[in-house]
Amino acid sequence: MKIGSHVSMSGGLIGAAKEAYSYGANTFMIYTGAPQNTIRKPISDLKIDEGLIFMKEHDISDIVVHAPYIINLASFKPQIFDLAVTFLAKEIERAKAVKSNYLVLHPGSYTEMDSAYGISRIVEGLNEVLTRDLGIYICLETMSGKGSEIGRTFEELANIIEKVKYNENIGICFDTCHTHDSGYDIINDFDGVINNFDKIIGVDRIKTFHINGSLNPRGSSKDRHANIGAGVNNPKGKDYLGKDAILRITHHSVVGEKTLILETPWIDDKTNLYKQEIEVIRNGI
Ligand code: FE
Ligand code: FE
Ligand code: ZN
Repeated sequence: MKIGSHVSMSGGLIGAAKEAYSYGANTFMIYTGAPQNTIRKPISDLKIDEGLIFMKEHDISDIVVHAPYIINLASFKPQIFDLAVTFLAKEIERAKAVKSNYLVLHPGSYTEMDSAYGISRIVEGLNEVLTRDLGIYICLETMSGKGSEIGRTFEELANIIEKVKYNENIGICFDTCHTHDSGYDIINDFDGVINNFDKIIGVDRIKTFHINGSLNPRGSSKDRHANIGAGVNNPKGKDYLGKDAILRITHHSVVGEKTLILETPWIDDKTNLYKQEIEVIRNGI
């Protein structure tokens, strides 16, 4: 099983790899800088060579890069759209520099416009950036549908993929919290949800999973992650998905060798549960 968590890039790729190793992970996900902004160190400052050596020595591979949230390809505002396009192009270079094959991207939010507008804008942006031999998958994330997010339904994602010219470079990041929050019954019928996904998008598109509990009931459109199987005593709140559902999903045949990334909440500034959560999922108990 390929499993890890989101880790910090503040110490470069070597820092990220060591943090992942401390959780017993064999993969990990990074933001190349702060998730909320586009300030980025030059590639030469990311301690990539050291990191790659450590990863090789410790059997860590298939890492995932997450683009910052503020990239909004669905925006009708030219400055926001242009920033999204230029930043995405640079982020692809950074992700390839750390030898990642997967760049996770939130499709975008249409704000005052509508879903059809948002989708056409996202397609326009992706067509500006994607080339035939891109060398990395842009993984559109399944979204919870909060606010005006695009990607709350498989149909919306399929619609984007169909319209992008070099769409062989587009994958999907399947987030368990988000699909549950957007209304898919992954607790009682993950098989049915995956069959539906396969009909609409095709399961081969799934390149990575975000494994998170949810603090809210199905269909809440909230996007608030819970620790795996957390009970009412967890300071961050109860997980509505539950451990059994997460274990069924993570041990399902659709997962295979694909990377599983935890984005579960930290308990406080110093404490997270990644190590325990990885162990629980790996052992399936
Ligand atoms: Fe995300
Ligand atoms: Fe996610
Ligand atoms: Zn989320």
